[in-house]
Amino acid sequence: MTKAPSSKPLHIRMHANDNVAIIANDGGLPAGAVFADGLALVEAIPQGHKVALSAIAEGAPIVRYNVAIGYAVRDIPAGAWVSEALTRMPEARELLNLPIATIKPPAAPPLEGYTFEGYRNADGSVGTRNILAITTTVQCVAGVVDHAVARIKAELLPKFPNVDDVVGLEHSYGCGVAIDAPNAIVPIRTLRNISQNPNFGGQVMMVSLGCEKLQPARLFPKGSIPILRDAEPSHVCLQDQEHVGFMSMIASIMQTAERHLSELNKRQRETCPAAELVVGVQCGGSDAFSGVTANPAVGFASDLLVRAGATVMFSEVTEVRDAIDQLTARAVNAEVAEAMVREMAWYDNYLTQGGVDRSANTTPGNKKGGLSNIVEKAMGSIVKSGSSPISGVLAPGEKLSTKGLIYAATPASDFICGTLQIAAGMNLHIFTTGRGTPYGLAPVPVIKVATRNDLAKRWHDLMDLNAGRIATGEATIEEMGWELFHLMLDVASGKKTWAEHWKLHNALVLFNPAPVT
Ligand code: CA
Repeated sequence: MTKAPSSKPLHIRMHANDNVAIIANDGGLPAGAVFADGLALVEAIPQGHKVALSAIAEGAPIVRYNVAIGYAVRDIPAGAWVSEALTRMPEARELLNLPIATIKPPAAPPLEGYTFEGYRNADGSVGTRNILAITTTVQCVAGVVDHAVARIKAELLPKFPNVDDVVGLEHSYGCGVAIDAPNAIVPIRTLRNISQNPNFGGQVMMVSLGCEKLQPARLFPKGSIPILRDAEPSHVCLQDQEHVGFMSMIASIMQTAERHLSELNKRQRETCPAAELVVGVQCGGSDAFSGVTANPAVGFASDLLVRAGATVMFSEVTEVRDAIDQLTARAVNAEVAEAMVREMAWYDNYLTQGGVDRSANTTPGNKKGGLSNIVEKAMGSIVKSGSSPISGVLAPGEKLSTKGLIYAATPASDFICGTLQIAAGMNLHIFTTGRGTPYGLAPVPVIKVATRNDLAKRWHDLMDLNAGRIATGEATIEEMGWELFHLMLDVASGKKTWAEHWKLHNALVLFNPAPVT
């Protein structure tokens, strides 16, 4: 360690049964550092990495979150650094003989009286932003749509002050793909459902090329957009005979956009109960603090949302896979537990076909941040779901139809998870990060929560909330959870996040488990 410790030596243990704890101090701790309980470090340990609280014999479990996150490959003395190299990862829990709906938490009292200012839609859903989205059937049209969007923003948007933004829903799907493959349903329904996100106000317009595999009638079969009843979405096809030259295409897109902008401009914010929030939670660039500070605060806020009658989605299959027994136990009934197992089995198979398993998840940054393997990462990740019963499960790309705490099965990839949660109907996104990522989404505001003070300080104009204060004892999990809950209501009402302030938007990325051709 070259850097002096920031304060007196501090470690964080998650459960009384744990035989490891993580180093809390910014900059880590040097050999010889002594904790209040008398434990002395036998070697330097970086921040977020694990110290053995007692001697761990070769082959014995390394326990964090009261779960064996691995087994010692050799004897480890008390006060030593329990690094990834000393940890053998356990096999994934079999999807058999799982506890089903065994945990029945006492019904939490409803949380009443919390509201936000949102845009109520004709179908009853509520938007937190007022955005014109232009759906595309194929990547071929992306350049034209980009050009049109730039002109719409410059020339039309100023005439419609109630509209926040114009977004081209661009993606790499639509042609050159095995569109009749069974799994093609995933990208197609994702795109269909994204166009109906509550932030788009039911104004569905589409730009197609003409010759692509994903024909408009396949993307939007009759009756597939309930909010339009039987009407067709408006549609500009670039290969139409009427278009002579590029400017004719742009003019056609701009005319169509102007009609929708004038409809969106009529929307007004009105007071809505917190029950109308549909919050997607996710983590990315995780470290060992994710499961100690930010994710528990999100979990507390998630319980508040469920008590307020809102919807919370948690996702990321590889980051819950090792906790499947905890999740099936929290399912409200056997049907929900079975749906969860079905999604895990589907993903196990998907990974196997690719010649990998769940351990393909962790990144070099995760490991540098102290997360030894996917088991440890998963235990910290599921904390975001709080303690409410799990009342529903969505397959990738499906749209929500119930409230409460929902497991929306998605890959853990930040962009793919965010894209699938937009399709599910999310109107607010919570994103926790320890390593730091400038992540943002154009269709939905993203509140970013830092896991550590050091990150929150360095990225002071990128992080919306600092949960690192939990690690230093400046705030409790409950206090941070309430702060996040209030911030969610403010952002849902129009307060800009840092990602919105700087206009930081990642691409939509469709999950396509089917072959390309
Ligand atoms: Ca993620």
